[in-house]
Amino acid sequence: LWDVSDALLHTLEVRLGARGLLRGDQIGERYAADTSRLHALRPGVVLRPASTGDVAFILAACHAAGQSIVIQGGLTGLCGGGTPQPGEFAMSLERLTGIEEIDPAGLTMTVRAGTPLQTIQEAAADAGLRFPLDLGARGSCTIGGNISTNAGGNEVIRYGMARALVLGVEAVLPDGTVVSSLNKMLKNNAGFDLKQLFIGSEGALGIVTRAVLRLFPQPLTHAAAMCAAPDLPHVIKLLQHLRVSLGEGLSAFELMWPNYVQYITSQCADIHNPIDSAAHILVLIEFEGTRPDTDRATFEAVLHDAMTAGHIVDAVLAKSDKEVDDFWRLRDGIGDVAPRLANAAHFDISVPINAMPELVDGMTAELAQAFDGITLLTFGHLADSNLHLVAATGNSADLDAIYHTVYERVGTLQGSVSAEHGIGMVKKKYLHLSRSESEIALMRTLKAALDPKGILNPGRVIP
Ligand SMILES: Cc1cc2nc3c(=O)[nH]c(=O)nc-3n(C[C@H](O)[C@H](O)[C@H](O)COP(=O)(O)OP(=O)(O)OC[C@H]3O[C@@H](n4cnc5c(N)ncnc54)[C@H](O)[C@@H]3O)c2cc1C
Repeated sequence: LWDVSDALLHTLEVRLGARGLLRGDQIGERYAADTSRLHALRPGVVLRPASTGDVAFILAACHAAGQSIVIQGGLTGLCGGGTPQPGEFAMSLERLTGIEEIDPAGLTMTVRAGTPLQTIQEAAADAGLRFPLDLGARGSCTIGGNISTNAGGNEVIRYGMARALVLGVEAVLPDGTVVSSLNKMLKNNAGFDLKQLFIGSEGALGIVTRAVLRLFPQPLTHAAAMCAAPDLPHVIKLLQHLRVSLGEGLSAFELMWPNYVQYITSQCADIHNPIDSAAHILVLIEFEGTRPDTDRATFEAVLHDAMTAGHIVDAVLAKSDKEVDDFWRLRDGIGDVAPRLANAAHFDISVPINAMPELVDGMTAELAQAFDGITLLTFGHLADSNLHLVAATGNSADLDAIYHTVYERVGTLQGSVSAEHGIGMVKKKYLHLSRSESEIALMRTLKAALDPKGILNPGRVIP
C-alpha cells in the first residue's frame, strides 16, 4: 500500500464497515480500469458508500487528509476517466442504487446515482412510461456515470442528451458539502442552475449521488427500417427529408459504413446484414408515433419517396419486434467486438454536418495510407453530427499518431474531440483543439474554486 495515513483508513473503516471498504486482495481486477482498459491499475483501496451521508463523510475525511479519489460508476467509460492513478482511492457507487420515487403525474423519477441505466428504463416501462436515454452499455453503465459524462446515445435526435433529461441533481462537493438541487419542475429560474456544474463535468467538480429524471409517455407505434444509401451526401439529404416528413417522430438515425458492417458480421455469427449488399452505407431509422391506424403507411410512403429521390437505393422494414432487435444487434455489435480489438483508438468526434463527408474521406484515406492493414470501423449518430471511429493496428506504439491524425483534422474542421464520451485522461491533451484558451481557463477557475486541494478525479479533463 502507498503512504496513506492509518488514521484516515481507520476512520473510513469504522464508518463504512467491511462491505464498504476493500483493501489488497479483496479488490477485484474490475476496479483497475474503465472499458478503454488503458493504463489499468488495481487501486489499493476501494470505498463503497451506501448513502449520500457516506459519500459526504468520505470526501470530508479525504479532503482533510489531502487524499485523492477516482469516482467509478459502471466503468463503461471509454476515455480512462474512471481508471485509478497511482496513490488514488477508488470510490465505487455500486452500492448507492435504487429508485426512490416515480411520479406519473409530474413525469419524474428520483434515483440514486449507482443505479444501472437499464434498471431505470425498465422501471419507467413498468410504470407505463419511458426514460429515453439509451446506449449500448445500458446494462452496466450507471445513471451517475451517464449524468457526469452527459451521455448521448441512440435517441438524442428526439430527446436530447442526458442534460436534457435531468431536472435535478444532488451532489457532494470535494470538501464533503452536500448540495441538494433535486428540482422536479421543468421551469425553475431561481438563481444559477447549479445542477449544470455536475452534468458533463466528469466528476471533476463533485460526486453526483441522486438525480431527478424526466419521463415521457410511451409511443403508441414504433417502426424501424434498415436502408442502404449510396454515399454520405445522400445520407444528409435523407436526414433532411425525414426531419421534414416525420417531424419529431424520427427517433433514431444511425449510420454504419461498409467497413463496420463487414467486420461486425464476420466476427459475430448471430449478427447479419439485412440488406443484400455490402457496398452501401447502412442507415438504421426508427419512427415513433401516436396513430396506430396510419403510422406504418406514413413511414413506408416517406421511405418510398426517399428512394424515388435517390437518397436510398434499398430498404428493409422490420416486420416484428425480433427484426427490430436484429437491426439494433448490428448497431450494438460494436460492444461485443471492441473489447477484442487490442490497442484500439476509440473516437467519438463531431463536426458540423456539412463537413462530415470531408472528415470521413480525409481521415480514412490518411489513416489507411499511414498504417498498413489498419482496421477501421466507422459508424455513428449522424443526426447529432456525431461520428464514431475505432482504429486499430494492434500496436500500442501507433496510438499517439492515430489520435493526432484524427484530432488535428477534427480541430481544423472546428469540430469536437468528444461528442459524447468525454475527455477523461485520454483526450485531455487535445482539449485545446475544441476549446479556446479562455474556456479552459474558466474550467480551471471552477475546478480550483470547488476542489482547491485537487483531490477529486485529479488530472482528468483539464490539461
Ligand atoms: C458498448 C458501449 C457503448 C457505448 N455507447 C455510448 C453512447 O452511445 N453514448 C455515450 O454517450 N456513451 C456511450 N458509451 C460510453 C459510456 O457508456 C458512457 O460514458 C456512460 O455514461 C458511462 O457511465 P458509467 O457509469 O459506466 O461511468 P464510468 O465509466 O464509471 O465513469 C465515467 C466518468 O464519470 C465519472 N463518474 C462516474 N460516476 C459518477 C458520479 N456519480 N458522479 C460524478 N462522476 C462520476 C467517472 O469518474 C468517470 O470520469 C458506451 C460505452 C460502451 C462500452
